[in-house]
Amino acid sequence: ELDAAFFARWMTTAADAVSHEADRLTELDSAIGDADHGGNMRRGFEAVREELGEDVPGTPGAVLMTAGRKLVSTVGGASGPLYGTLLRRTGKALGTGERVGREELAAALRTGIDAVAQLGGAAVGDKTMLDALYPAVEALADSGGKDFEAARAAAERGAEETVPLQARKGRASYLGERSIGHQDPGATSAALLVAALAAADA
Ligand code: ADP
Ligand code: MG
Ligand code: MG
Repeated sequence: ELDAAFFARWMTTAADAVSHEADRLTELDSAIGDADHGGNMRRGFEAVREELGEDVPGTPGAVLMTAGRKLVSTVGGASGPLYGTLLRRTGKALGTGERVGREELAAALRTGIDAVAQLGGAAVGDKTMLDALYPAVEALADSGGKDFEAARAAAERGAEETVPLQARKGRASYLGERSIGHQDPGATSAALLVAALAAADA
């Protein structure tokens, strides 16, 4: 059973990771995008950290919905609305209970990821954040929601496996075949968020 404090810890651990890796994310985005992904993610998650530092909402669902709203309002660019949707829709799917089970979290995450796919019109293999998120939630669901470490490994592998793909969504798709040979920045940040989930559980 996971409580609001667990979800707040996930968000602050994510903020730590994103700030620590911001230069790397921007470097990846400079190869196939507009070199702002690290800055976008750091600005968004530092705002989330500040918001949750003032007042942690009482339920897991409310923590994620608050964080998602903050991302939408502070991050311009594709990743703000997409990650905002991920957290808001996952949070909504968690409902209003004070504690959620691990299987419930896996199911809610899938709902949130499906909402990202719907919003952005992307699928696995399009070289986006979904290439890290779907393998992670599948690994999590396969373990009955228990194995955050398997989810972390699957997300990291999924991000690495974007290297040979040609981007079909987002800015990187404007490059056509020239997007091949580079790791997708959003898949890389998604893997950081999944790693933060595993770290929050430790
Ligand atoms: P922008 O491209 O607007 O500068 P960011 O650089 O912050 O925004 O984010 C880029 C990342 O967003 C990409 O690496 C990709 O993973 C993700 N992304 C872009 N478009 C989509 C989409 N339609 N669906 C899912 N993810 C997307
Ligand atoms: Mg960018
Ligand atoms: Mg941009």
